[in-house]
Amino acid sequence: AELSPFATELFVDFSASENKIAMEAALASVYAKLGREYDMVIGGQPIKTTGKIVSVNPANPSQVVGTHQRAGAEHVETAIASAHRAFASWSKRPVSERVQFLLQAAELIRERKFEFCAWLTYEVGKNWAEADADVAECIDFLEFYAREALRLNEAKTPIQYPGEKNQLKYIPLGVGAVIPPWNFPFAIMAGMTAAAIVTGNTVILKPSVDASTIAAIFYELLQEIGLPDGVVNFCPGEGPEFGSEVVAHPKTRFIAFTGSKKVGLEIHESAAKTRAGQIWIKRTVLEMGGKDSIIVDRDCDIEAAVDGVAASAFGFNGQKCSACSRVIVDAAIYDVFCDRLVERVEAIKQGDPAKNFYAGPVISPLAYKRVLDYIEIGKGEGRLLTGGAAVETAEKGYFIAPTVIADVSPTARIAQEEIFGPVLAVIKSQSFDEALEIANNTEYGLTGAVYSNSREHLERAREEFFVGNLYFNRKCTGAMVGAHPFGGFNMSGTDSKAGGPDYLLLFTQAKSIADKV
Ligand code: NAP
Repeated sequence: AELSPFATELFVDFSASENKIAMEAALASVYAKLGREYDMVIGGQPIKTTGKIVSVNPANPSQVVGTHQRAGAEHVETAIASAHRAFASWSKRPVSERVQFLLQAAELIRERKFEFCAWLTYEVGKNWAEADADVAECIDFLEFYAREALRLNEAKTPIQYPGEKNQLKYIPLGVGAVIPPWNFPFAIMAGMTAAAIVTGNTVILKPSVDASTIAAIFYELLQEIGLPDGVVNFCPGEGPEFGSEVVAHPKTRFIAFTGSKKVGLEIHESAAKTRAGQIWIKRTVLEMGGKDSIIVDRDCDIEAAVDGVAASAFGFNGQKCSACSRVIVDAAIYDVFCDRLVERVEAIKQGDPAKNFYAGPVISPLAYKRVLDYIEIGKGEGRLLTGGAAVETAEKGYFIAPTVIADVSPTARIAQEEIFGPVLAVIKSQSFDEALEIANNTEYGLTGAVYSNSREHLERAREEFFVGNLYFNRKCTGAMVGAHPFGGFNMSGTDSKAGGPDYLLLFTQAKSIADKV
C-alpha cells in the first residue's frame, strides 16, 4: 500500500483527563518494572558481564531504573564480527522490507506512548510534555526515514549519456557505531539507529550510561518485531571504555554520534587515524554542543520574548543542545525585560517529574556539580537575578533552581561555555548590529532566535546570524522533524541535519553504473 505523506506526530494534551489518567496508569505500571536487569545482546545472543551499569532516577537517586551489562574492550571484536555477518544479508534486503521494520516500530511505540513517556520520566527526569516530545520525535524519525529511504531508492541521475543506461544507486556503508547522548535518549538514539539500518547498514548501539534502560526497551521492541539478529547489537558500556574502542576498530566504517564537543572531537580525531587492516576512510556524523542565543530587539513583543526565552532556557532544565543559555537584550528595553523575566522564572514550579512539575532535576552528580560550579563562576561575572543554588529534597535528587544572571559580558565564561543546565546569562546590547555580533561570538553555531517587529532586522539575521537552526519570534528549542532539519555549524558539529532530506545520504555511498545499450 502507498504510504501517506509524512506528518508529525501530534503531542498529547495532558490537560484532558483521559490522557492524565493514562499517564498516571503508565507511571504506575512502569514503576513496577523499575530495577530489572537487561542483557547485552550481540548477534541475538544474550550476554552477562560481571561489571554492571546502574541507571537511576535523577529525582530520587536511590531508585534504580535499570541494571545493565557493561561492555568492555573484550566485546568489541565479537560485536563487530556479528554486525558484519548480519550486513551480508541485511544490506541485500529490498528497501521496502527494511522500511517495514521502521513503520512497525513506530506503530508499536505509538500504541505504548504513555509507557515510553513514563520510562523517560523515571530515567532522565522529563516532565510529561517533555517526555511526550521525545517519544513523538522518535516516532517522527522512524516514519520520516522510512519514507526518505524509499525516495532515495528511487533516485535517478538527472542526465543520461547517449548510448548508455545510467544509474546512481545509493548503497550502505557497512558496520557503524551509534553513540547517542542521554538527553534525548529515545528520539536521538532510535533516530540515528533507524537511519543507519534502513539504508542497509548494521550497527553497534552503545547507549548513554545515564539512559541505557530506554534503549534496552527500544531494543526489546526491535526483537519483538523480528529485526534479524546482528542488525542492531545492543552494547551498553562506558564511552571511554567501550565506545572509544568501537570507534577505533579498523572494521568500523562509520560513527553516528550526538553528544558534547569534547567527545565529538575525540571521536573525529580517533576516526581519522588509519589502523592496520583498515581499507576505508571512516565516515563521521557528529552532532555536538551549543551555546545558543536569543536576541531580543527593542521593537518586539516583550511578553512573547519573555515566554520564549524562559521556555528555551528552562524547558527540561536547560538540558537541550538547543537551549537558550544567553539572551541578548537591547538596552532600550533591558530593565523591563529583566523584571518580567524574573517574575516569569520565579513562577516556575520545581519538583518530581513523575508528578509533572515543570522543572525537575539535572541528570547526574557530575552534572549537578558542573552546573553549581558554573553558577558560582557566574555570580562573579554578573548580577544574580534569581535562583543561584541547589534545591534540597528528601530524596536527594539533583535539583538546581532556575538561575538567571544579568549584566554578563559577552566574553564571560558563562556566556561562552556550554553549561547544559538551568542557567541563563543576560547580556546587554546597544544596537541590533552589536546584538548580531555578540550572537556570533562563540565557537558554536547550533540554534538561535530573534524577537523583533522589524522586518529589516529579521532579514539581516536571516543572512548574518550564523547558526544551523534559526527561529524568528518563537523559541529556539523544539525542532520538528521534516520542517526543521536539525544540526549546527562550527563546533556544534558536522551539520548533519537530522530529520532533513539530506540525512540518509550520510549513511550511504553512491555507486554510478553505466550500462551500454
Ligand atoms: P557526551 O558526554 O559527549 O556523551 C555522548 C555519548 O558519547 C555517550 O554515549 C558517551 O558515553 C559517549 N562517549 C563518551 N566518551 C566517549 C569516547 N571517548 N569515545 C566514544 N564515545 C564516548 O554527551 P552527553 O552528556 O551524553 O550529552 C550532552 C551533550 O550532547 C551536550 O553537549 C549537548 O549539547 C549535546 N547534544 C547535541 C545534540 C545535537 O543534535 N547537536 C543533541 C543532543 C545533545 P557514556 O555513556 O559513557 O557517557
